[in-house]
Amino acid sequence: MENTSTPTHCPYCALQCGMNITPLPQGGVEVTERPDFPVNRGALCGKGRAAAEVLSPALRLTAPLVREGGRLVEAGWTEALDRIAERLSAVRERYGADALGVFGGGGLTNEKAYTLGKFARVVLGTSQIDYNGRFCMSSAAAAGTRAFGLDRGLPFPLEDVPKTGCVILVGSNPAETMPPSLRFFTELRDNGGTLIVVDPRRTRTAEQADLHLAPRPGTDLALALGLLHLVVAEGRTDEEYIRERTTGWEEARAAAMAHWPEYVERITGVPVPQLRDAVRMFCAPESAMVLTARGPEQQSKGTDTVGAWINLCLATGRPGRPLSGYGCLTGQGNGQGGREHGQKADQLPGYRKLDDPAARRHVAGVWGVDPDSLPGPGRSAYELLDALGTDVRALLLMGSNPVVSAPRAAHVEQRLRSLDFLAVADVVLSETAQLADVVLPVTQWAEETGTTTSLEGRVLLRRQAVTPPPGVRSDLYVLHELAARLGVEKGFPTDPEEVFGELRRASAGGPADYSGITYRRLAEENGVFWPCPEQPGPRGTGAADGEDAALDALPDDPAADAGAAHPGTPRLFLDRFPTPDGRARFVPVVHRPTAEEPDAAYPLLLTTGRVVSQYQSGAQTRRVAELNAAAPGPFVELHPRLAARLGAADGDRVAVVSRRGRAVAPARITTAIRPDTVFMPFHWPGEGRANTLTNPALDPTSRMPEFKSCAVRVEVLGPGE
Ligand code: SF4
Repeated sequence: MENTSTPTHCPYCALQCGMNITPLPQGGVEVTERPDFPVNRGALCGKGRAAAEVLSPALRLTAPLVREGGRLVEAGWTEALDRIAERLSAVRERYGADALGVFGGGGLTNEKAYTLGKFARVVLGTSQIDYNGRFCMSSAAAAGTRAFGLDRGLPFPLEDVPKTGCVILVGSNPAETMPPSLRFFTELRDNGGTLIVVDPRRTRTAEQADLHLAPRPGTDLALALGLLHLVVAEGRTDEEYIRERTTGWEEARAAAMAHWPEYVERITGVPVPQLRDAVRMFCAPESAMVLTARGPEQQSKGTDTVGAWINLCLATGRPGRPLSGYGCLTGQGNGQGGREHGQKADQLPGYRKLDDPAARRHVAGVWGVDPDSLPGPGRSAYELLDALGTDVRALLLMGSNPVVSAPRAAHVEQRLRSLDFLAVADVVLSETAQLADVVLPVTQWAEETGTTTSLEGRVLLRRQAVTPPPGVRSDLYVLHELAARLGVEKGFPTDPEEVFGELRRASAGGPADYSGITYRRLAEENGVFWPCPEQPGPRGTGAADGEDAALDALPDDPAADAGAAHPGTPRLFLDRFPTPDGRARFVPVVHRPTAEEPDAAYPLLLTTGRVVSQYQSGAQTRRVAELNAAAPGPFVELHPRLAARLGAADGDRVAVVSRRGRAVAPARITTAIRPDTVFMPFHWPGEGRANTLTNPALDPTSRMPEFKSCAVRVEVLGPGE
């Protein structure tokens, strides 16, 4: 590659900040600001600024590894790929196709996620595929689909946030998870709007709020119901909107009215006057939003919890109105796109349902296979991991590190160890890759071209900016080679633009319709919001109607544009909701306790989360010296009253113990946490691994585990080092 600057996007979170990458003559790469991208306007957090460090061959994998005599040793690509294909074939022959598992990641580009889903269903013939995004946003996705008929993280651009009247931010800490976005909330307040933060901790984000509600973990469903009760009691509902644009209000209203403010105060610990203040602040302005993140979503009742917040928005006439509505702040870099194109257990590309006969016909047509040959829905992420070594005997894993990031992680680690065969494709030798029989070193963000879809539903082009090390290949190459070895010679191209062309055709007419998007448009327009159907025209007739007409209409040449371009859809639901009757649906929900309430043996609640200098399982960011210096290891936040009761001093080593195991880390004493709750960040492996403790109890709809709440006790071990 030449030493010119390439505009691209950060590899980490769903904000997908724009940045410029410049290879330096002396070696290495410089990351610089890119003010033309409207989401971050040049700002980057420390993770983004340091992202290029992980491109260094010193920090990452540069050759395939195979296990010999219990050790991973370097091997050639042919040997490594042959070994994977042979072992997958042998397992399939002995146990059947569903004994093969595939586990993807929310950081994979759209092209990779799409190809991985196709590979599982067409080449392996297995139903057993899911991905780590199930752990992130699936409850919001389920609740959004249930209410609006469609799931897109934000139904409006982030630039709408400063112009609205009030934002309720629920279980989200953008000051640490996506710092450049904080300016939207600062500008909201500068413009006279108000910010309400709902979080058990007084986070850096909560410190910016006009009102901070600090409910006990796992009770924000009751909190939302209490607010809706007050909205009704104070006559603040929007009756015309409810009549014209929704269904199901009477049932949802009746469910909310059972949640009296005093009852809600008892459940949540949030005083009634604060509930009344929140209702006043949310209802007074003409426009308002509720934004949720992992807090309400990562619960065994996450879908209903998000649903309760959506009901509050609907009752006050917010969704589908200017500068208003409900949105989910997705987490992983391609958390949104990764859940649209087929690496989910129940899904086909374009956000189609795998159990929908018309969807199967459409996608099978694009893939050139018999619809009846496509497997049905498989297990969700945790259920798949839990089945390893029993029903699922071999696993191909791409871009995920469940040894650190999965709930009940020690059990998941033991399940991974019990597999007949594990192959991992990753950039670094993660804790999960260390358990593999074969490890494939793959290219990463700045070394390859591909698309991601940000939390706004904005499809973006990440361009290749540097040449990868010689021993490294792309994930698309891996799937192409494995498909060929397993007998499928065609249909797995290695050129990402060619894959995107096929993805466009597969998505045409689906809820997440990308058929009108091309790489050229993405480069010229700073991204395009889906849905973006191919416009009716000489070669585009019928694409928006979906199904087979769309197949014939779209060009095979991915660079070709047909007819007048659809502008994309920055704002959803303005005229109607994509439900059969065009109305949003209230869903009645009621409070229920977490799956594991405190008791005499485990009297406290643990909640988990992130710190600003580490990303997800830390597989990349823990390798960067600057980020490690800023956040070197885990800690346990204790309120001073709890610390006094336990006899713990700041810095003491403490053990947090749950029914699933024990994690040890230094105590950090702070009034930012409730006295009945302890907090641990989850980025580290080893004795401080927070996910050793977490509860895999699943939401019945989204199959999301309850990361945000479990019962624990704390034991003081003695002074720290
Ligand atoms: Fe990257 Fe997210 Fe930081 Fe932006 S906020 S620089 S996308 S990690």
